[in-house]
Amino acid sequence: MAEKRDYYEVLGIPKDADDAAIKKAYRALAKKYHPDTNPGDAAAAEKFKEASEAYSVLSDPDKRRQYDQFGSAAFDGNGGPGGFGGFDFSGADMGDIFGDIFGDIFGGGRSRSGARYNGPSRGANVRTSVRITFEDAIFGCEKEIELNYKEECASCHGSGAKAGTSPVTCPKCNGKGKIMYTQQSFFGQVQNVQTCPDCGGTGRIIKEKCPDCYGTGYITKRKKFKVTIPAGIDNGQSVRLAGAGEPGTNGGERGDLLVEAVVSGHPIFKRQDTSIFSTVPISFTRAALGGPIRIKTVDGDVEYEVKAGTQTDTKVRLKGKGVPSLRNKAVRGDHYVTLVVQVPERMNEAQKEALRRFDEAMGGDSSEGEKHKKKGIFK
Ligand SMILES: [Zn+2]
Ligand SMILES: [Zn+2]
Repeated sequence: MAEKRDYYEVLGIPKDADDAAIKKAYRALAKKYHPDTNPGDAAAAEKFKEASEAYSVLSDPDKRRQYDQFGSAAFDGNGGPGGFGGFDFSGADMGDIFGDIFGDIFGGGRSRSGARYNGPSRGANVRTSVRITFEDAIFGCEKEIELNYKEECASCHGSGAKAGTSPVTCPKCNGKGKIMYTQQSFFGQVQNVQTCPDCGGTGRIIKEKCPDCYGTGYITKRKKFKVTIPAGIDNGQSVRLAGAGEPGTNGGERGDLLVEAVVSGHPIFKRQDTSIFSTVPISFTRAALGGPIRIKTVDGDVEYEVKAGTQTDTKVRLKGKGVPSLRNKAVRGDHYVTLVVQVPERMNEAQKEALRRFDEAMGGDSSEGEKHKKKGIFK
């Protein structure tokens, strides 16, 4: 392998370039040298590879630090300190930036990229959802879900061709899976790439279809999956089942199954992140005199000692009675309780009399009320 150029030099940026500058430089180069915009140009392909390699290292803070310290030896796979063993172009960051670039070039989304190469490609992720109770989300649970699962057809082993026959190379695209055409546009001639309409991008044509899978190469079955929902999951978060998605093509690995948790509401508890909130009514006398009350928590009832003279809307924190952290279920949030003092709505004469006597003992506030009543302020 030839001596590697300095990654900063490759991207044409200074050593102290920030992330935005790195991304911008890479975008410009990738756009210029991308194989789809330079079909058959080996030099451009090499430049594209070089820029992608530089970007994959410099855009990752850890890798960049290693590169600054050890140079490209850190990444050449010969047991450098990083032990990366080559580059992984399938990383999320690369995906994002490729998405941007293909969007720019083709005016479309990333979905087109699936048909770009006729090599192995990973199967699509499948999304589904599962409804769980408020408590299940807090303490975790096991759920079984059943869904359609595409499997390689056993009769044709995924080729889609009838037993004893095999698919032939697509004559329209010569097996490339894509066709190039030139279009006249406002800016002059533009080369466009399109998925081959005859073979749908596979590069192969099936003359006699496998009767079991109708030539698709796949059989769809109902399949059950056990999903372990971790304690602390929140509404809208997903659990990933690696390899349970759509099958890949041309030997590519399967996609993943993403199961989104749809958490039901609770009649008493509200949740925000790892905190639980609830409102507890307490009687006027309990608030005034203090004493024990029972408060419902997700762990069951707890006894709480109300202080004498508690006002309405007093907030109480029950430490560790909230939601476990997804990362560590031993770490739990808190439960916040709002105590709401209830004023009795209906009282019998004896109760009223007792309150009047109470009022007199307190210095006679209600006699003020009586005066207002006479003035017609209160009914
Ligand atoms: Zn088949
Ligand atoms: Zn074709």
